[in-house]
Amino acid sequence: MKIAFKDTQTCGECSLCCKVMAISDGDFQKPKDHWCQHAKKKGGCGIYDTRPSVCRDFECLWLEGKFGGPSLRPDKIHGFVTSTTDGKNLVVHEDPGYPGDARRALQPILDKWLMQSQRNYVIVVCGTKRSFLGHPDTFAALTGTVDELSGMSNVKVVRTR
Ligand code: SF4
Ligand code: SF4
Repeated sequence: MKIAFKDTQTCGECSLCCKVMAISDGDFQKPKDHWCQHAKKKGGCGIYDTRPSVCRDFECLWLEGKFGGPSLRPDKIHGFVTSTTDGKNLVVHEDPGYPGDARRALQPILDKWLMQSQRNYVIVVCGTKRSFLGHPDTFAALTGTVDELSGMSNVKVVRTR
């Protein structure tokens, strides 16, 4: 949504967050997993100069240079990563048209990241499905107050360490 961030990493033809993320900003409403009416086919925003502030502020972690190089650009792996609201954990947002693609592509990086702490976790969001990656004790200790886990009954623990 930023279109350009650093010299090293730019959105380029990617605009996947303009599909996958829900947007609610005043009168501007866009449901999750539906293309924004302003998204351009080859990346970019049709209302770039007046786009909502949430769009201006959004940066996936790939754009910040924290999740690999050009081959892992979100539109190529059909997903992107953000931090949880507390900034300590990760959320993989998958394009529901390509379930599992992003997780598979990012697995080596996620594995390495999870090894750093027993308490870190990753939530993979794909459409209405949630998957939890991390230690099961961490999952058991989480509460429904964590935004990214809303709909806890829909979370499946798919991998343990
Ligand atoms: S998903 Fe990331 S790289 Fe793609 S348009 Fe959004 S911020 Fe840019
Ligand atoms: S307004 Fe522009 S930046 Fe925001 S979601 Fe739509 S296309 Fe993307």
